[in-house]
Amino acid sequence: MKNQETQRHGRVVVLVPAPFQGHMTPMLQLGTILHSRGFSIVVAHTEFNSPNPLNHPEFIFLPISDNLTAHETSFKNPLDSLLAINNNCKAPLQENLAQMVEKKAPNEQVSCIIYDSLMYFSEAVASHLNLPSILFRASCALNLLAYHDILRLHAEGQLPFQDSKAQDLVPGLYPLRFKDLPLPGFGTSEDSVKLIQLLSNFTTSSALICNTVDNLEHSAVSKLQQHYQVPFFSIGPLHKLASASSTSFLKEDTNCIEWLDKQAPRSVIYVSFGSLTIMNKTDLTEMAWGLANSGQPFLWVIRPGSVHGSELTELLPEGFEEKVGERGCTVKWAPQKEVLAHGAVGGFWSHCGWNSTLESISEGVPMICKPYFVDQKVNARYLSYIWNVGLELENDSERGDIERAIRRLMVDKEGDEMRQRAIDMKDKIEACVQKGSSSYSSLNNLQEFILSF
Ligand code: UDP
Repeated sequence: MKNQETQRHGRVVVLVPAPFQGHMTPMLQLGTILHSRGFSIVVAHTEFNSPNPLNHPEFIFLPISDNLTAHETSFKNPLDSLLAINNNCKAPLQENLAQMVEKKAPNEQVSCIIYDSLMYFSEAVASHLNLPSILFRASCALNLLAYHDILRLHAEGQLPFQDSKAQDLVPGLYPLRFKDLPLPGFGTSEDSVKLIQLLSNFTTSSALICNTVDNLEHSAVSKLQQHYQVPFFSIGPLHKLASASSTSFLKEDTNCIEWLDKQAPRSVIYVSFGSLTIMNKTDLTEMAWGLANSGQPFLWVIRPGSVHGSELTELLPEGFEEKVGERGCTVKWAPQKEVLAHGAVGGFWSHCGWNSTLESISEGVPMICKPYFVDQKVNARYLSYIWNVGLELENDSERGDIERAIRRLMVDKEGDEMRQRAIDMKDKIEACVQKGSSSYSSLNNLQEFILSF
């Protein structure tokens, strides 16, 4: 964002985003906000899934050579991939930043490193260079809190939990049930615990930033503040505070907006499971028939590579397109924020990634929640049980389950009531990003905090 009025104060902030869509986007949004407040921004990123510098001419991009193998970038074993990123990137980042710190003019100081929790090697790099570091979390506060409980439950021998406990509330972690715990959902239980240890253990960072809204999850935010005893900045939803430059790795298909323009207000269900979810072909077939039989207009994102072992062309079941005709629109990647803000969209069937969750409630769009792994289960619980703006899709094994859920959300009184509550949430969120309110003040405090280094 070019802001002629902004006073440049010669302070540089180095951002280290993780190479995933749901992590890259909020980190770049944070960069945009800090830049608009006078900081120069350096984005130190992996070569794998690198951001497009053309979308952010105001940032300096610093590629870190990651040396990842094809197996590691496939994320077939996420723990191995994450360990490889953190091992391989440490030395190059350290060297690059050391040079940068040395070369900077006296009126251009590197103030701190803000790093994504998945890029935990950055903390050691910052310590080595005597730079302050700040941890950035792209998920909700309750998710981080749940990590501590997972470690405790593991130490007490309560994990993996028995099926009979799935619906029980986890003591001290209201409203989460055992089945909502953000376990990574791959590899062995030991792998999960190792990963969670890596992601929740920070020792020398000076503060924690979370892309959340204080009044959405006040209790979790307070508990985290007590636990970590460092300044905690809840500055979300970042997409509402940053300007809208594209951060997508995939090309957004904007034709769907023209299609949406032709639909009746609040009639369309938007369907997308984010950037990482992989499903099997049977699930996709059931989704297709659920959408077709619901009778509702729908906009459906089928991301390339999102179905195990299938090419896009062979995915949709025979007879589906004939049945649906103009009532359905499928794209490979949508301009999601624009879609959710469109007046024709009345519901969102989602995997409940944290960005999708924030984007949906910020536009007053109620959801069908189909979480797959990690924090998605926590977000779905908030949506369906605490905020009452989401319908949990627990049983979708029988033909007919999905179409019923779609009708409940899009046609029934139950869905209307959820939509009204979602609209109330939208108003509350809008209030939180106004001057003087919680997220805005938290951002001011963050700015002062960085300037104090
Ligand atoms: N997204 C998008 N177009 C799509 C699907 C997703 O722009 O067709 C964006 C969405 O707006 C969100 C991000 O991708 O900002 C997905 O992040 P989220 O945390 O919801 O899920 P993840 O991909 O991390 O599982």
